[in-house]
Amino acid sequence: MKLFILLGLFTNLLAFGSTLNSNTGRGFDKNEIDIYISSTDCSGAGFSTATFRDLVEDAVDDYWNAVPTADLKLNVKGVSNIDIAGKTHNDILNDGLVPANAILAGCNQSFASPTTLGGAVMSCTGNTCRAVLIINSGASSQMPNQDRDTQIAVIAHEVGHAIGLGHTEISHNLMYFNISGKTQNWLGQDDIDGVSYLYPHDEPALGCDFLPLLGSMGAIKDISDDDDDMSGGFMISILAGVLLSLLFFTPTKIFKSFI
Ligand SMILES: [Zn+2]
Repeated sequence: MKLFILLGLFTNLLAFGSTLNSNTGRGFDKNEIDIYISSTDCSGAGFSTATFRDLVEDAVDDYWNAVPTADLKLNVKGVSNIDIAGKTHNDILNDGLVPANAILAGCNQSFASPTTLGGAVMSCTGNTCRAVLIINSGASSQMPNQDRDTQIAVIAHEVGHAIGLGHTEISHNLMYFNISGKTQNWLGQDDIDGVSYLYPHDEPALGCDFLPLLGSMGAIKDISDDDDDMSGGFMISILAGVLLSLLFFTPTKIFKSFI
């Protein structure tokens, strides 16, 4: 028992399933999202950059692209020449290294907690979102100690954050906040509900058509932040989250999470 516990525990989420993030609204505007792979060395995480790309591809194919009730297609691109060495998630976003409406995935040693497995930050300005996902390649990273399936699950968990999902308190889900000892390699109902809500097959207009959808979303809550550094979560009901998303004209909003 060690190392993989998210520091910000949300004890008041016990009765709920999926969490979303009201700050980043309903996630990416498009249902087809490119994932670029950073060229930064991943060897400290236990694999080459090329292997990291394959792991990301397995993560999206095995998990998020495989949900029949969601219209989501994550496309993993080749290794790019984007170097994220020494940069935090926010540095990467602020430096403009992530293309619009895309996710950048890479490895580096920017983690405040040396044993953290990885983290993801999503940022949206208006309808334009960007996300960055980093796997810890520092000397104390626990990624090299994981088997391949667990590494894929960790990456898939971070991809879940990068597409707008928060944590769930229900352990039978990929987005459970603690993966210590977790061997599950499938999505749970909360994961499926969350991604299906964010990326529905038929995008309803924000009007009367939207109300029936709410009826099926009783297990989903909104959260505004999801960060190691937080001592508590600011959480509001899904209805309030929807109302907030209607007031969506605020500047850049950021969603952070570290596994
Ligand atoms: Zn997480």
